[in-house]
Amino acid sequence: MSDLPRSPVTVLAVPAFKDNYLWLIHDGVDAAVVDPGDAAPILAALDRLNLNLTAILLTHHHADHTGGVPALLAHARVPVFGPRNDGIGAVTDKLGEGDTIVVPGIDLGLRVIDVPGHTLGHIAYFSDKLHWLFCGDTLFAGGCGRIFEGTPAQMAGSLGKLASLPNATLVYCAHEYTLSNLRFANAVEASSAALQARIVSDTAKREAGQSTVPSTIALEKATNPFLRATEPAIVASLVAAGKLQDGATPLASFTALREWKNSF
Ligand code: ZN
Ligand code: FE
Repeated sequence: MSDLPRSPVTVLAVPAFKDNYLWLIHDGVDAAVVDPGDAAPILAALDRLNLNLTAILLTHHHADHTGGVPALLAHARVPVFGPRNDGIGAVTDKLGEGDTIVVPGIDLGLRVIDVPGHTLGHIAYFSDKLHWLFCGDTLFAGGCGRIFEGTPAQMAGSLGKLASLPNATLVYCAHEYTLSNLRFANAVEASSAALQARIVSDTAKREAGQSTVPSTIALEKATNPFLRATEPAIVASLVAAGKLQDGATPLASFTALREWKNSF
């Protein structure tokens, strides 16, 4: 901790690769990075804002979320928080459901939520005080991650946990996939006024060169088909497209939605 004047903790989006967001949590002095797939843009942001790196937080093992870790550790020996069960060798502080951490140097407590599905060990970080959610590739704005390692039941359970967070929660997901997600949402629930309003608003943001992330849990519950798999209009779309039998279970409906999106 230095004695320099600190600002309220904020979150800065650092774009990387084609559509990743690396999240830099900082107070004007110290900074922690979530899912640094690439070190160069983080090192540039630290330099530009004159910030000390104090921690690395990881949600899952994929290279676009972890690839920058070695170069960041060469820059600063900081703790690496990450999932207990996702096979990431660099993790020094192994975390799972119910664990809480205080981000070193920064006045921010985070609670860990297990969200298996995209990978088996995937975790999310949630601030009960600020209502910030860092959910990696589990919940996306308007969509959800592909199920690479887990089962549809696991992914549905993980999304259900995130959907139960407060409505005002800011959803800091790891990719700008929103417009493509909303095109799929529009194919399965075109009748939704909330969805149509979101398409207009998020399209305008992208045309203005802005990010559509973070979104909120309230907006996701209102418009994200993967949180709405039992909505009658969505079930009807699945049945009409020949992807689902009438009277199928909620899990069958979620599974059919995820499979349809894979080839959409
Ligand atoms: Zn991933
Ligand atoms: Fe990713």
